[in-house]
Amino acid sequence: MPSYKAPVEDVLFILNDVLVMERHRNLAGFADATPDVVEAVLREGAKLCEEEIAPLNRIGDTEGCRRDPDGAVRTPTGFKAAYDAYRAGGWMGLSAPAEYGGQDLPTTLNTVMQEFISAANLAFGMYPGLTQGAMAALAVHGTPEQKQLYLPKMVEGAWTGTMNLTEPHCGTDLGLLKTKAVPNGDGSYAITGTKIFISAGEHDLAENIIHLVLARIEGAPAGTKGISLFLVPKFLVGEGGALGARNGVSCGALEHKMGIHGNATCVMNYDGATGWLVGEVHRGLNAMFVMMNEARLAVGIQGLAQSEVAYQNAVSYAKDRLQGRSLNGAAAPDKPADPIIVHPDVRRTLMFIRAFNEGARALALWTALSSDVAHRSEDAAERQAADDRLGLLTPVVKGVLTDLGFDCTVKAQQVFGGHGYIAEWGMEQFVRDARIAMIYEGANGIQAMDLVGRKLGRDGGRAVMAFFGEVEAFCRDNGQDPAMKPYVEPLAKGLGHLQGATMWFMQNAMAKPDNAGAGATEYMHLMGLVALGYMWARMCKVALDKRGEGNGAAARMDAKLVTGRFFMERMMPETGALSRRIQAGSEAIMALPAEMF
Ligand SMILES: Cc1cc2nc3c(=O)[nH]c(=O)nc-3n(C[C@H](O)[C@H](O)[C@H](O)COP(=O)(O)OP(=O)(O)OC[C@H]3O[C@@H](n4cnc5c(N)ncnc54)[C@H](O)[C@@H]3O)c2cc1C
Repeated sequence: MPSYKAPVEDVLFILNDVLVMERHRNLAGFADATPDVVEAVLREGAKLCEEEIAPLNRIGDTEGCRRDPDGAVRTPTGFKAAYDAYRAGGWMGLSAPAEYGGQDLPTTLNTVMQEFISAANLAFGMYPGLTQGAMAALAVHGTPEQKQLYLPKMVEGAWTGTMNLTEPHCGTDLGLLKTKAVPNGDGSYAITGTKIFISAGEHDLAENIIHLVLARIEGAPAGTKGISLFLVPKFLVGEGGALGARNGVSCGALEHKMGIHGNATCVMNYDGATGWLVGEVHRGLNAMFVMMNEARLAVGIQGLAQSEVAYQNAVSYAKDRLQGRSLNGAAAPDKPADPIIVHPDVRRTLMFIRAFNEGARALALWTALSSDVAHRSEDAAERQAADDRLGLLTPVVKGVLTDLGFDCTVKAQQVFGGHGYIAEWGMEQFVRDARIAMIYEGANGIQAMDLVGRKLGRDGGRAVMAFFGEVEAFCRDNGQDPAMKPYVEPLAKGLGHLQGATMWFMQNAMAKPDNAGAGATEYMHLMGLVALGYMWARMCKVALDKRGEGNGAAARMDAKLVTGRFFMERMMPETGALSRRIQAGSEAIMALPAEMF
């Protein structure tokens, strides 16, 4: 049976020492987030995840969700009690506005909690995760009445939320969607259509479910410009949140799928269901993007989370499993063989995962902090810079953390040899569960296109130039310090590859867009490595300063420095290969006629 321990110490190192969250005390909600409060909140959250949510992970996988003939969906044994504990702890509203009953703490803390909960039990974590995304979309685009009616109940966790985009014939290309909205004449609309793959579409955890649904108002233009967003509650809501009649929306079937069995993935049928417009007519995608951007960060963190829990279990196994002898002679001569952690190849595997996890955690939290600054700062220039960074890094966090997160989960499974393939060890579940994060919330190829096609050129390349400038300044400021050399030199080289690839796109992709499409995924990974490398260089700088502090800091900081060195020696050099692949262009990719495949 696998186990999970939330990495609270590592999070505190990143928040307090590397990102120095305290520097942002002037932001709304940050004054209350003193280091003591942050630590207390995270330890409490860790306890909930370790003790109540993680033990349900395997039960959720083996039992799955069940749909009754009347369309009601039952979640696996124990999910309701764990959800009630999550709700009672006020976790849903951790960073929600106080006016709706939230605690208004930094979003960054909620991001940490998303990692813990997704590592403990990915399928479970999606129920609150989607609700928080729906809350964010309503908070930005809802009318004052909608906010008053729906948000307090959602913040409390009494009601959950969903996002309904996908239809049988359209996923990526939402311009094709057919779900119809017909005005009822009283301000509401009758929504009719079928949505598929809707996570948490129906379940027994909450009293009501608030569906956010993309649909086309009768007579609207074709394509994405004719799509509007609607709020469709499972039960109609009266004054003060009183639950009324059942609305015309139901779960037609549950999907049978590879992983996340504890999360209900539903076919949702809308049969003239009553819905209300959210945001402007025909601007539904714009409104839904608030939810999608939140969700993309959360999904990126799911990749990290599966990698972290898989790593922890692989480390325990590697210390325990006796096979072969160390190449340098017996390390445990009293035992019939040495633990496999003595073997360089096993260590290489573990170091790769560790270097990814710690770097990815820093990158995710830096991005989350950018979101806080972008939404809470009083200073317009600071807000804009943070928003630029958030926009640039969101597809990178989603795409790279889930691609590498899956890769690392498979690597951790490999440490178990054949036992990794056997269900009772839990490793194959982590692999199956991690796989979805590369697909939903916009498949990773689409994240890469978002980065290359939209984010790079936006506002004359302001965001990417600022990112380059920040990394360059770090390299300049620290390049003369001999202790920092092993970190700064590879980072500067990787940055050079990224800048070269960016320039190559500017010169070769405008006239021939296939060159951008062909290199987009590699470019996303190239930027991901440079961003992770920047995080590692910053962490190592802090680790060098903190080594002498006592309290066992030296051993922990030395471990950081060694892991950072591994990243720079073994992972960063990949930037050279990525840059060459990008510059090979699209010719060999596009040359074969479709019938030759
Ligand atoms: C378990 C699960 C849960 C989900 N939860 C939800 C949910 O809660 N709400 C919801 O609305 N949806 C949900 N989805 C749907 C998910 O977001 C979509 O499956 C995903 O966005 C991809 O759409 P698609 O499956 O139609 O693939 P397609 O759009 O058909 O894409 C197929 C492949 O082609 C590639 N591709 C497509 N177009 C392009 C292009 N222009 N350029 C380059 N490559 C392209 C894609 O990258 C992909 O690899 C869920 C799916 C699953 C499996």
